[in-house]
Amino acid sequence: MSYSKEDLKDLYEGRLPWPKIKEIMSRPKDDDRFEKYVEILQEKVPWKEKILLPIGEHLYIVQKGAERIVKCDCGHEFGDYRRNWKLSALIFARDTREKLEEVYPGIKCPWPEFCEVREFYCPGCGALLKVDSVPVGYPIIFDFLPNLDAFYRDWLGKPLPTSQEPRDMSNDVIMSWRAKLS
Ligand SMILES: [Zn+2]
Repeated sequence: MSYSKEDLKDLYEGRLPWPKIKEIMSRPKDDDRFEKYVEILQEKVPWKEKILLPIGEHLYIVQKGAERIVKCDCGHEFGDYRRNWKLSALIFARDTREKLEEVYPGIKCPWPEFCEVREFYCPGCGALLKVDSVPVGYPIIFDFLPNLDAFYRDWLGKPLPTSQEPRDMSNDVIMSWRAKLS
């Protein structure tokens, strides 16, 4: 059986009663669930670029001309999806006891000698996009580099019109910072 787009929209927006949610969760996924989900998301965003893949509560990989870029629902663009978008975000590092205590009060507070909490915000709308809790000095984590061509071709059976090698290009960003310093 296949659920209607209205049912799925109510599901994603938290309007369905629990028995209905449980029924949907317990059944095998519809073959077209991803396409319907993306259609619902596309109707909600204020821009026209085609969503290829949602990658967070506010973030999407979209097709913009020949490029595939990360875009926030506010419209802010982070650039090529193969470069870690976090390197272009606003970053607040909770790296002192005082800053950590604001979210982990009292005995729950991690030791700032060992742990830091990094908050990544959208430069366009200020939305909190991701929180990473990592050892001090740990590289910025690249959460997800999907193989979009393989996903569309092998899983959805609908190959994208052009293809791109899913190569991690994050180092290009760091090298451009280095070039500015020298
Ligand atoms: Zn934004």
